[in-house]
Amino acid sequence: MKCPFCGYPDTKVIDSRPSESKKRRRRECTNCGKRFTTYEVIEKPLLMVYKRDSSFEPFDKVKLFKGLQNAIKKRPVSVDDMNALVDNIENTFANRMQTETTTEEIGDMVLDGLKKLDHVAYVRFASVYKDFADVDSFIQIISELSADKDKSAGKPAKKDEDK
Ligand SMILES: [Zn+2]
Repeated sequence: MKCPFCGYPDTKVIDSRPSESKKRRRRECTNCGKRFTTYEVIEKPLLMVYKRDSSFEPFDKVKLFKGLQNAIKKRPVSVDDMNALVDNIENTFANRMQTETTTEEIGDMVLDGLKKLDHVAYVRFASVYKDFADVDSFIQIISELSADKDKSAGKPAKKDEDK
């Protein structure tokens, strides 16, 4: 690693620690003594997302995040929760070494994640993403949620009020 200050080609690592998916290295130039930090990032395979009209584009975390914003508006879901959800989706593909996916697959993963976070956000996202064609499909989603709630009986059900 070349020193960014004097260009000397030899620097030594004085401290190294992993921080989530990045490894942080503190380096010192053996010539001028200046210190700087480098990050080693694990390269993820490029993931292509096929859309319903069979066009495709690279997976875009920011875009996915933005797509979720309406669903979580005024809901008790934090930015950290959303980041974790989006990271988790990206990591799932990376761990599988998967290079192609569909908007449907991503949408289903988002729904799985939202279901655990907030039921109102879940229904909002589902209504847009599943593009409810009729009342029946809407009722189906709601009854699936109620069935889930029954399964986790014992815990007091969180009240979902949306105003
Ligand atoms: Zn230097």
